[in-house]
Amino acid sequence: MRCLTLFSCIFVAAMTFAQTQNSTEAAPFVSVNVPIFVLNHVRVVDGTGTMAKEDQAVVIANGMIRSIGPAASLQPPATAQVLERTGYTVLPGIVGMHNHLFYTASFSTQVGSHGEVTEPGLVVVNLPYSAPRLYLAAGVTTMRTTGSVEPYADLKVKRRIEGDLIPGPKIDVTGPYLEGPPTRFAQMHELTGPEEARRLVDYWVAEGVTSFKAYMNITREELGAAIEQAHSHKLKVTGHLCSVTWHEAIALGIDDLEHGPVFSDSDFVADKKPDLCPPAAARGFNTWVNLDINGAQVHDLIQDLVVHHVAVTSTLPVFEAGTPGRPKLQQRVLDAMSAEAAQSYLTARARIPLDSPRTALLRKEMDFEVAFVKAGGLLLAGPDPTGNGGVLPGFGDQREIELLVEAGFTPVQAIQIATENGATYLGPQDHIGTLAPGKQADLVLVKGDPSKSIEEIEHVETVFKAGIGYDSAKLIDSVHGQVGIR
Ligand SMILES: [Zn+2]
Repeated sequence: MRCLTLFSCIFVAAMTFAQTQNSTEAAPFVSVNVPIFVLNHVRVVDGTGTMAKEDQAVVIANGMIRSIGPAASLQPPATAQVLERTGYTVLPGIVGMHNHLFYTASFSTQVGSHGEVTEPGLVVVNLPYSAPRLYLAAGVTTMRTTGSVEPYADLKVKRRIEGDLIPGPKIDVTGPYLEGPPTRFAQMHELTGPEEARRLVDYWVAEGVTSFKAYMNITREELGAAIEQAHSHKLKVTGHLCSVTWHEAIALGIDDLEHGPVFSDSDFVADKKPDLCPPAAARGFNTWVNLDINGAQVHDLIQDLVVHHVAVTSTLPVFEAGTPGRPKLQQRVLDAMSAEAAQSYLTARARIPLDSPRTALLRKEMDFEVAFVKAGGLLLAGPDPTGNGGVLPGFGDQREIELLVEAGFTPVQAIQIATENGATYLGPQDHIGTLAPGKQADLVLVKGDPSKSIEEIEHVETVFKAGIGYDSAKLIDSVHGQVGIR
């Protein structure tokens, strides 16, 4: 141990201890770690939207896919470990595109029956411990945080994962929300103008964030400045907007729009004041409820998105959780929650009126998403583990894929939206997002056939990240009661 003073000796010893401790955090979850192996007699859903192929052998060597072909003609390499997995399906690792590292753990305590929040705003809980584990356990191998409330914690999680110190997906850390006054959230900064927006983008790029997200009270000028500055760093900007309409944001050069329009777009609000988010009663679904998905206004919006290559991120689970009687309660979801988070969610769930218009609006959002893809739009997918607390990291990514099938996509199309499309948007589509020889071995091994019964996507056995296999059940067990705490 090299140290010059007693203090530095103690310091170095403490650091060494911490690193030794840390280095063990990912290891207990690794179930497959050999240079060459074969997933034999599996069904392959390759992420391109084409039909599943039966009885295949997938050969993985040194973290890459070496070959995929009929199991009958497999010539396993001499040193390969052959894993017989008849009845299982292999699909690409999910690329989660609205995957926060935070969660609304105490929604029903903080938010009044009319949606009101007291000063200084709604507080959310960062999940640096449980969220990365749940995401990976569910099959997410790459994700974007899509807005950060604790950017330094999120950057730390990203780097710890990259150093193999903790288990989790590869992370695109989105900067702190680009938001203006009056924000609903205690942990969000309020911008004071376009110059500050530029300064903030530059600062967080230097700190290591790799994408940005604009929020509900930003001005057009601030959004334009932030987009220009982020693009000068070759980084993308998405938005959950309100004060700025979708048409305005498209004209400013935004790359992606969150949630779909039914719950968030303000283009069709009567007497919309520029740069101001209309009162809740006048915005979002209260205007979209009367719009025809096949009508001229929605058609024009879809064309504007498609022509300008603006993606849309589907986040159906967070809307479903606000819909009466949905989703079906799952024990695994309640088990992962802290006792108080579970109580908060069950209370919020019980408060949803049975005649809520959200049942029809969820269907309308689904119809929009199908129409957008039919028109050539790039649809992305993510759970958004916020709202009333009913959506959890990871489990929510699986639910999103199930809801895309309910929307009208085939199971393999829904899987493509959650895998290849995310990779295409982020840029590394030559390495991840689909299964083919030469691609990185980011894949999910599922018991059953999600190409026929999409809910079987929940039966994950092993998640491979660059060829290293992680035990899904062990990861889930390790966060029992922790969502809402850490
Ligand atoms: Zn969100």
